Amino acid sequence: MTDIFRIIPITATTTPAVLDVLRSPDVPRSEEPFIADTLRRPLRDLRISVTDRCNLRCTYCMPREVFDKNHVFLPRAELLSFEEIERLARSFIGLGVQKIRLTGGEPLLRRNIEQLIAMLARLHTPAGKPLEITLTTNAVLLSQQAQSLKDAGLSRLSVSLDGLSDEIFRRMSDSEVPVKTVLDGIAAAQRVGFTPVKVNMVVKRGANDHEVIPMAEHFRNSGIVLRFIEYMDVGSTNGWRMDDVVTAREILEQLASHYPIRQIAPNYIGEVAERWRYIDGSGEIGVIASITQAFCHECTRARLSTDGKLYTCLFATNGLDLRAPLREGATIQTLTTLIADHWQQRNDRYSQLRQAATEPMITVTSSPKKIEMSYIGG
Ligand code: SAM
Ligand code: SF4
Ligand code: SF4
Repeated sequence: MTDIFRIIPITATTTPAVLDVLRSPDVPRSEEPFIADTLRRPLRDLRISVTDRCNLRCTYCMPREVFDKNHVFLPRAELLSFEEIERLARSFIGLGVQKIRLTGGEPLLRRNIEQLIAMLARLHTPAGKPLEITLTTNAVLLSQQAQSLKDAGLSRLSVSLDGLSDEIFRRMSDSEVPVKTVLDGIAAAQRVGFTPVKVNMVVKRGANDHEVIPMAEHFRNSGIVLRFIEYMDVGSTNGWRMDDVVTAREILEQLASHYPIRQIAPNYIGEVAERWRYIDGSGEIGVIASITQAFCHECTRARLSTDGKLYTCLFATNGLDLRAPLREGATIQTLTTLIADHWQQRNDRYSQLRQAATEPMITVTSSPKKIEMSYIGG
């Protein structure tokens, strides 16, 4: 027996195929346990959607025509409680998860979110490393909450902001919230010690592509990492068209025509953002080319929906219900086994397949109804 067998967490569910993967020389030896899916991808990150509600109505995510006053959000009883989330988190961590991102919907709308953060921040990986807890927010409520998030043990924070002009922001977020509210939230986060705060901007052609340079100019020399994200065909309600996607290459060309920039190495293998730095030392930017450079081959991410379903892809149509067994009293070991079995059957690579189908850039629409990002967690 080699020591690699000793780090497999749940031998009862480890199939022969997985053992082959673990034996193979190209799988890195690790102090941490891991399981692998059918494409040899370990389970490393977990995104948890803590609410399906939001105080904005970004047109690419929760278009108001769909998410209007008649839309039925999940009733409270259907949401996972903090205790249930923590219990499931323990199972995921036992299988190799090292990073948890809280998202939604708008996670700061979930009452007492700092209590959940404190509960998760106490957990450790089997090798004894503290878990990395991060959160993505639209920052509308961040000014008031930044300190309590920091005190609770949140490791890092990402803020979404699609433009600096009030008019563009109002149009993109379909709200009356001024940009200043978001900027104040970002400033509060910096003040309480989140470093670096990342700001994510989804770039949609004809909507906010002319805000790329003003955003870059604004966040240069601020210590904030600005990341540009290709508009994705997630969900079934945003009317996505390939023509609306401003590619990472186009964004980089725009940036390079204003500032000398150079690419820098990723922070870790599998990082989804391509990192760039201004040559004059005024900071870092990133591009996330989810559409034009699919990163499915390195995707180690699972998603837990607000009501406790496990999705193994952002573009999934079905999830595995974990809430029912949880509420029927399943042990952590049973839950771990359920999750492991599901992950080991995973073969998702939606973006890669879409990329193959869209070369040369033909618009495709997928047939079954995809899950909305606000529910599954972006
Ligand atoms: N409400 C929080 C926020 O906006 O940061 C967290 C949830 S939101 C679904 C998470 C991220 O998904 C945001 O950065 C948002 O811009 C991004 N997002 C939503 N729909 C998208 C789409 N169609 N394409 C690309 N990114 C999208
Ligand atoms: Fe809300 Fe975030 Fe979706 Fe915008 S992107 S509607 S802020 S969940
Ligand atoms: Fe991961 Fe699915 Fe996105 Fe591919 S399409 S990177 S498998 S979430």
